[in-house]
Amino acid sequence: MPLVAPNDVGTTRRRKLTPRQRLAIWERARGICVLCEQPIDGVRERWIIEHIRALELGGLDEPDNMGPAHETCGLRKTQDDHRRAAKAKKQKIQHLGAAQSKRPMPCGRQSRWKKRLDGTIVPRQ
Ligand SMILES: [Zn+2]
Repeated sequence: MPLVAPNDVGTTRRRKLTPRQRLAIWERARGICVLCEQPIDGVRERWIIEHIRALELGGLDEPDNMGPAHETCGLRKTQDDHRRAAKAKKQKIQHLGAAQSKRPMPCGRQSRWKKRLDGTIVPRQ
C-alpha cells in the first residue's frame, strides 16, 4: 500500500465533536488506542480522538475515521502526518508543474534572458 493515495491530497474540514460523539467513538473502539493498540485508562491517562487517516492527507471527518488514542501516541502521529502531508503537497506541486525553480537555468524558459542560435543573448519578450 502506498503511504499516500495518489489522487487527492486535499484537506478536509474539521468539525468539533460533542461529548456524546466522543463517547460513541470511545465505545466503538472499546477504549483501545488506535495507534499502539493498548487499552487506554480513560480515568488516569489523557486521551484524544485521533483521525485514523489524517484530514490533511484526505481523511474524512467522520466517526468511521476516528478512534481514541493516548495523547502521547497522538502527538507522535500528528508530527508524522505533518511530515507526510508536506511531502505529498510537494509531490503534487512537482507533478502538476506548479513549481517555479528558485535557480532557473541560465537563459532557460524562466529566465529573463534568452540565447539565440547564433549565440547572442537578448532579453526575453
Ligand atoms: Zn497509545
